[in-house]
Parts: sequence; C-alpha cells; structure tokens
Amino acid sequence: MIIIMEHGATTSQIANVSARVEQMGCQVHLSEGQERTIIGVIGNGRPIDREQIERMSGVERTVPVLRPFKLASREFHPQDTVFPINGVSIGGNQVIVMAGPCTVEGAAQLMETAQAVKAAGAHALRGGAYKPRTSPYSFQGMGEQGLRLLAEAREATGLPIVTEVMSPEQVPLVSTYADILQVGARSMQNYALLHAVGEAQRPVLLKRGMMSTIEELLMSAEYILSHGNSRVILCERGIRTFETYTRNTLDISAVPLLKQLSHLPVLVDPSHGTGHWELVGAASRAAVAAGADGLIIEVHPRPEEAWSDGAQSLKPARFAELMESLRSIASAVGRTL
Ligand code: PEP
Ligand code: MN
Repeated sequence: MIIIMEHGATTSQIANVSARVEQMGCQVHLSEGQERTIIGVIGNGRPIDREQIERMSGVERTVPVLRPFKLASREFHPQDTVFPINGVSIGGNQVIVMAGPCTVEGAAQLMETAQAVKAAGAHALRGGAYKPRTSPYSFQGMGEQGLRLLAEAREATGLPIVTEVMSPEQVPLVSTYADILQVGARSMQNYALLHAVGEAQRPVLLKRGMMSTIEELLMSAEYILSHGNSRVILCERGIRTFETYTRNTLDISAVPLLKQLSHLPVLVDPSHGTGHWELVGAASRAAVAAGADGLIIEVHPRPEEAWSDGAQSLKPARFAELMESLRSIASAVGRTL
C-alpha cells in the first residue's frame, strides 16, 4: 500500500509513520514530491492495519497498491525517475540515443563506429562482447577483449558504454568496464541474473523478453529494484507475433503504457524491433513521438560485413541523418535531443 501524507506534513510525522511501518515488519520507500510525501510500504505477507496508520498525525490516507509490481509502479513513486549517465540525464526532458554495433568485432570497427556515432550526437556507445546467439555455432562475442576495446572507445570519445551481461558470474567483470549493464531479451526472466545486477553499482538496461507481457517486464524490473538498484531503464525491443515481414513486432503502445504504469525511463530499440535498417528511421521517430526517453540503435560502418545483425544496422551517414530528423520530432513533443 502507499501512505499519502498531508500537504505540509513535518519530517518528524514522516519519521514516526515510517518507524511504525517498520515495526510492523514492512519495508518503507519514501518518495518526496513537491506537493506531498508518499510512503510506499512493501508488506511481509501479513495484513496491515490501515486504520491504525490513518489515525497517525500527518497522514491523509492510505491506498492499497493492487498491482503485483510495487517499487516499479508509478503509484509508489509518482515522479519520473531521472538519473545521470556520464553527465547526461536519462528519464528527463532530453531524449537519449545509444548507438553502436551489435557486436564488437575488433578495434578498428569499434573505434570507427564510436567516432561516427559521437559526431552524429549519440550519448552512449553500445556493443556486445558477450552475445546471446540462437545458434551455438554463431560468433559468441569477443568476451573480455571486447570489453577492453569498449573501454578504449570510451576513452577516445567520452561516450559511456552499454554492453550485455549474460550470467550472474559475469556481472563483476562486466561492471568494471561498462557504464550500463544490458540484460538482453533472452535473459529478462533469468532471476539469478536480475538478482546479481540488482546488487551491482551500475544502471541496468532491461530489455523486454520477446514473449513477455508488460507486466512480466515490470516484475523483472521489480527484482532489480528490490535488490537495491534503483537505476533501471526499461527497453521495448519488439515481441514475437505471427508477422514474418519484420523480425519482431515493435510494440509502440508499450511506451505510453510503461510511462503510465511506471516511473522508470523507457527506451526503444528499433533495430531488433523491426530487423530491417529501412524501417529503423520511422520506428525511431514513432518511438520519440510516443514519449520514449531514448533509443538504442545498431550502427555499423559496413553492415554487409557485420558479424551479427547487419540487416538491421544503419550506416553512419544514415544514422547522422536520422539524428537530424529526430531533433525535430523531439522538439514537436516538447523535448530536446
Ligand atoms: C542486442 O542488443 O544486440 C540484443 C541481442 O538484443 P535483444 O536482447 O533485444 O535481442
Ligand atoms: Mn543485435
């Protein structure tokens, strides 16, 4: 449930209520808005005596939170979650673009892409070093060598890096190189991994599973939040449907819906969401128009030679053009890019 404090409730009233809730064996999550403070209560399975809380001084009313996700819900935390990543804020007014190759293939490929996306105005560099491939015979990623190359590209461009982590054991190593830990669509319900990234000191980009509902995505976010990591970014990357002309069906309605249900920043991946570079521009513009806080886009200097996902990768010049067109969409919806 949430406890809505009266307008102007004092800090000692808030502290008293919080202490009472903790005595009941529950956890407290304070959300201090401009108007009033909301105390989120995570129960311990036992019923809570709401009337007892409502009689305490400074309390306006209590409201049960019926949805299964609590910490991720907007009811618990009415204001948007905004946090900085290397100086740029995610979840705020600015639309953030993360771009780079699907896979780190080598020093030259990565550096060329990093310089190009930086020049076009990207805010972060993406690139996989550990790749979740459908076939065990496909290239599985460069591993730690790939992470080192990402760190060198960050050094050269100043762009923070986002890269996938596939197992709990990889979290400490990937965290030493990455600025943002990506949990891929195939790992969205790997609960041991969610637990591990929940304890990591890095923001997490959580991608929607290709067969997952919005509620399942938010429950996975809840795992990360409940293990202490409040810096979670949700990512819509398309879901599997009967359609075969696209790789996935990009669920644009997920964007306003997630913004309504949750306070967490929402990104869209138009590359995996469509599977075709020709569709990436329109899908990106639609995502920004729908209220996405950012995009994660695959870019490769020579997509025809890419070791993975070449068909959905933009060439640097096309990415630069897309950034231009996104600036006007962002401004039409009252945002910057
Ligand atoms: C990726 O970002 O390259 C990737 C594998 O994404 P997803 O987990 O969404 O398929
Ligand atoms: Mn990819």
